[in-house]
Amino acid sequence: MTIKANNPLLKSWVEIAPNSDFQIQNLPFGIFKNKTLTPRVGVAIGEKIIDLLELYRADLLNKYDFDENVFDNLFLNDLIATGKEKCRKLRDRLSELLSEDNNELKDDMRRGKIMVNMKEAQMMMPVSVGDYTDFYSSIDHATNVGVMFRDPANALLPNWRHMPVGYHGRASSIVVSGTNFHRPKGQTRVDETQPPIFESSKRLDFELEMAFIVGKSTQLGESISTKQADDYIFGMVLFNDLSARDIQQWEYVPLGPFLGKNFASVISPWVVTLDALTPFTVEGYKQEPAVLPYLQYEGNKNIDIKLEVEIKPENAEGKMVSHSNYKYMYWNMNQQLAHHTINGCNVNIGDMMASGTISGPDASEFGSMLELAWKGTKPIQMPDGSERKFLLDNDTCIMRGYAEKDGVRVGFGECITKVLPAL
Ligand code: CA
Repeated sequence: MTIKANNPLLKSWVEIAPNSDFQIQNLPFGIFKNKTLTPRVGVAIGEKIIDLLELYRADLLNKYDFDENVFDNLFLNDLIATGKEKCRKLRDRLSELLSEDNNELKDDMRRGKIMVNMKEAQMMMPVSVGDYTDFYSSIDHATNVGVMFRDPANALLPNWRHMPVGYHGRASSIVVSGTNFHRPKGQTRVDETQPPIFESSKRLDFELEMAFIVGKSTQLGESISTKQADDYIFGMVLFNDLSARDIQQWEYVPLGPFLGKNFASVISPWVVTLDALTPFTVEGYKQEPAVLPYLQYEGNKNIDIKLEVEIKPENAEGKMVSHSNYKYMYWNMNQQLAHHTINGCNVNIGDMMASGTISGPDASEFGSMLELAWKGTKPIQMPDGSERKFLLDNDTCIMRGYAEKDGVRVGFGECITKVLPAL
């Protein structure tokens, strides 16, 4: 399938820096507001946001039969609900309007009103998240954790290579980039010879993840095949699944993650469509042993998205602590969605499915402090002379991600959050 908006030869009349995440081939959707505008749907291009509500009101989306309230909206859910075909036409139309050989918007008197400066806008949660699931699909991450906490010779649990393991998380505490959070408190028992204590977490961590947003709902009892899954995935965001390792370690047996995980997860504000990411698909890890038929898939479903994490202490220089890649996923999104619904569990538009920590094979590619500092045994040296085993108060954690090929860069912008002291 050829998607017009993905044409690598397209150029825009909008000034766009070559290293911008928001080239004309991207056109991600988000919700923004500014001093004068109420929340609404926008599309990023260079350092500008196209205000889709104003674009609609200027009659530049006429032939696409949208309702105004789809754009005059606190969330993208209603736009997504119009269907993938219609959203694809919308992206194609935006691509047309922004192409260098098109003057419709470029010469329109209302252009100043339709194009808003990104710098002056505040990004908001892009979707209303009904349900959130967190997978555990990076083999390098799962192996690292198994080696650290269990048996180095049998790092992966017996089920791991047979299904994309996951758990149901909490949607209420998923927040948009720029939202800070307080260090969580809870029960810990780090010293196994002592009774548990109540304290603020001493082992606060980030988890470098990506999440996909469900673009089509199912009925209870329905399943989505790996082949159908592409139609059910609207797009992706960066996902920082903040984790309190000490709380997690004591609470997780036997039912899995709970308060060590649900105090905050932070996402990047722009939803990059699966359509925009298709040119960057690559082969995944070979799956051995062979998976059950309902998890088998055709084609390349991994995506080459370069990922990085920076830790920046208050008033000091930051350090890139990790460079990973989404292509390292052992289980792909199609398999995750097929597995999630194989028992008839229904999914809804706006549901968020996170990948699990994305680690690569090299130590510089690990996706959490737990792994990077190897359980605290290899502290990370910071430019200001301090060291990190986990996140300290007032540290800012910045995640970035982009795909790049044939001179085209499709990126996610930044996912930023700061650790505030415990309340
Ligand atoms: Ca996670």
